[in-house]
Amino acid sequence: MRRRNGMDTIFYNGVIRTLDKAYPQVSAMAVKDGVILRLGTDQEVLSLADANTKKIDLEGRLMLPGFSDTHLHMLFYATFKRRIDLVDTTSYEEVVRLCKADAEKARKENRWVIGCNFNQVNWSDVNKIPDRHDLDAIAADVPVFLQRACGHIVCLNTKALQLAGLWDERADTTQHTMDFGEDGLPNGYVRENSAMCVQSCWERFTVNDIKEMLVTVCKEAASKGIVQVHSDDFNLVADDDFADVIQAYKELAEEGRLPIRVNEQIRFRRAEQIQRFLDMGYRANDTLGRFKFGPIKFLCDGSLGSHSAAMRQPYRNDPGTKGLLLFGDEELYELAELAYTNSFHLVAHCIGDAALEQMLNTIQRVSRTHPYPDRRNGIIHCQIMDQAQQDRFKEMNLVAYVQPVFLKADSKVVDDCVGPELGRQSYNWRRYEDLGVHMCGGSDCPVEPFDVLPNLYYAVTRRDGRNGPQWYPENGVTLEEAVEMFTSEAAYASYDEDRYGTLTVGKYADLVVLDRNIFERPLEELFDTQVMLTMVEGEIVYQRG
Ligand SMILES: [Zn+2]
Repeated sequence: MRRRNGMDTIFYNGVIRTLDKAYPQVSAMAVKDGVILRLGTDQEVLSLADANTKKIDLEGRLMLPGFSDTHLHMLFYATFKRRIDLVDTTSYEEVVRLCKADAEKARKENRWVIGCNFNQVNWSDVNKIPDRHDLDAIAADVPVFLQRACGHIVCLNTKALQLAGLWDERADTTQHTMDFGEDGLPNGYVRENSAMCVQSCWERFTVNDIKEMLVTVCKEAASKGIVQVHSDDFNLVADDDFADVIQAYKELAEEGRLPIRVNEQIRFRRAEQIQRFLDMGYRANDTLGRFKFGPIKFLCDGSLGSHSAAMRQPYRNDPGTKGLLLFGDEELYELAELAYTNSFHLVAHCIGDAALEQMLNTIQRVSRTHPYPDRRNGIIHCQIMDQAQQDRFKEMNLVAYVQPVFLKADSKVVDDCVGPELGRQSYNWRRYEDLGVHMCGGSDCPVEPFDVLPNLYYAVTRRDGRNGPQWYPENGVTLEEAVEMFTSEAAYASYDEDRYGTLTVGKYADLVVLDRNIFERPLEELFDTQVMLTMVEGEIVYQRG
């Protein structure tokens, strides 16, 4: 094939904010072979077109570098999407309707009907937990599994009991935690550990399932202007699923089917898992097409809402607990050392200040014992902290992975949990900027949706929801800084700042076009702003309408 001289795509008549300080705003851009070749005025850039160039009139719209979400769980999100969320049901009749509709699809797709989060107390018609007979009436030929919101009891229809191997159980012989009817047969209620065993019957995914789930979520992310995610996918159902997940990414790469870039946050909790992974031969920043092996990740504590985040002082509103560290100090150090000496940088989920302290000490010790240049270690969430801990981010050149959208839930509870003195020092994004700490943004989807534009709103306004009350507004960042958190800073965190993250000649054309100029509109409009087009490596991966 003879190579053309003309450009593949030219965007013109736009407001192109490059985030490149040398060349902050232009109106036109030329792309060839996936790379930005020229930025300038319409006249300059359009002169590079030939008959085959695709010319896109931006009609005055705003173009930015494509967005990144630097912490989410794509596969968890995909499994959630396959379930029916019954949390808002107000009658059993509504449950029946939702499950029957899903059973139609499940029958064709040869899968289970999975409903979760019901609470019969909220139903206006029947206040009983549905049993086997009730669920058989919904669908007898499709397995049905409904989980109560508490998570401690599930109900199954006959088909599901059969597939789960529970149908032949009897009250006097069973080892399982389940209930029986007057006829001596299982009535469909399964409790506690036995319920989790049932879960493994339907939550078993083939490599093909995983591939389809990933492609679906990546396409949805592309529709939100996202060109790169940092995703934690290696623990899908069990701890040891990661070989299948890697295989799925490998096949997607070979088939060229991954629409966006994925930087894996490789979560492990045992040395033998890390060793087994290392024995596969992968090292940090190895790539499979658009997939990249990122940092090794440790989950160091729980969550604020459940008071399981590990604190140095007892919870003010729950003085009997300080939360829970999930690793001992030496245990964590040994895992960190194994990863670190095998090329990997480290990230850790730390929400409480005790978990943060433990991980700061771990990273400090491992990086002093084994000094390597340019290890971009980081802390995911890093919510509760004092200024002395925040200063260590700068000293140790740590990346702060924050989720501004968490304010929606957390701004109501932080001061109750830790008191206003520590609350004010926590989630202090302004101070990271002032210290010159690398800070990037994310959603922790499925905890929160991966819509970047509302996330920008929370970062800047510190409001609890659209036009909601503000929480320490002085700790917010500017809109420009917020956009950097979801673009150039994210690219830095994955060692990709030379490839994308700003719109710069020589970098990949990874970009998003919005329907309005968010820098000139009221911040509330971030909730209404539409993504018009998303491009990865010169390829349009989403276009509205
Ligand atoms: Zn997470």
